[in-house]
Amino acid sequence: MGTWVRLKTRYLAWIVLLLTHSQCHASPTATTLTGPTMGTRWTVKITDRLPPKITVASLRQEIVDRLAEINEQMSTYISSSEVMQFNAAASGEWFEVSQPTAELVTRALEVGELTGGAFDITVGPLVRLWNFGTDRGVAVATEIELPNDNAITGALAQVGQQHLSVRADPPALKKAICGLEVDLSAIAKGFATDQIGELLKEHGLNDFVVEIGGEVVTRGKPASDRLWQIAIESPPEANRRLHTIVPLENSALATSGDYRNFFVHEGKHYAHIIDPHTGQPVGHNLAAVSVLHKSCLYADAFSTGLLVMGAEKGYDWATQNDIAALFLVRSGSGIQERVTPAWKQATQAPLKKRLSNP
Ligand code: AMP
Ligand code: MG
Repeated sequence: MGTWVRLKTRYLAWIVLLLTHSQCHASPTATTLTGPTMGTRWTVKITDRLPPKITVASLRQEIVDRLAEINEQMSTYISSSEVMQFNAAASGEWFEVSQPTAELVTRALEVGELTGGAFDITVGPLVRLWNFGTDRGVAVATEIELPNDNAITGALAQVGQQHLSVRADPPALKKAICGLEVDLSAIAKGFATDQIGELLKEHGLNDFVVEIGGEVVTRGKPASDRLWQIAIESPPEANRRLHTIVPLENSALATSGDYRNFFVHEGKHYAHIIDPHTGQPVGHNLAAVSVLHKSCLYADAFSTGLLVMGAEKGYDWATQNDIAALFLVRSGSGIQERVTPAWKQATQAPLKKRLSNP
């Protein structure tokens, strides 16, 4: 029995939107909306004028409704959600779900395949075994035994996306083994961020930033002579709040890290992201990974998968697959940054474009 200390139980924003700078220059029509969702907060900032038929209040309500709908489909915190009903369902039968849930599961399985199983949405039994599940409570310090090898082997037997099937028409999921679960926590925030971006685009809006718990979608600009500036937080060891600021235009950014939700047992750090191959929480020197992508759901999923792979393997994989990724790696002297060629290109391109089109 050892002392488990959960230093942070709530998922806080990884990334701070640097709005102050743009606010000084933003158009007088700028609108900022915010609210709670998915155990964190959503924020939308729009710098173009709202169409005449839309009010700030009606737009806010549309965002709230869309997020509520996504939660009712995909949340593991809502026991009546589609995903939770599927988790409780028997194996061997198709279980009908909404089109967005089937679509997101399809994308998640694709990322699982691409990452060689580092990303796996069936990891739920292991997440719970290591006390990172939704029922973990808010204790700051509790005495819990680490799971033994038998328990880990038992949970691993219920994990593996090869046991999960998805069908598009009519949309449905099927598990091949009893006890298989779906946990979309590592991709649903990115998906929801994309969805709110789509909602704003459908209203003809072209200049906005959407953020949910640190996952970000940007479109257009905060003002004609500026780019959206997104700050990436430093891990605690770095002794400074911000690591870097990324200029973004029509792009999404997501981050996974091991220092927000973890516990320490006998001096060892156990993070909420689990390696589905070993059944163990990640515990290597990679503190955080940020990924830039056209779509936030992929950025979200890839950042989690890369965190599982670790600094070396993750960097090589991201480079080979042309993924724009920034790795923050613990080293003796603090935190070291390593970026893939695609990251360098993606973060320089908006600046270059701006310099050539002043
Ligand atoms: P994120 O913060 O986006 O990296 O997502 C972390 C959450 O995803 C965890 O709290 C788990 O619920 C779930 N998760 C943990 N490990 C994995 C994994 N290897 N693949 C997919 N989801 C995971
Ligand atoms: Mg993720």
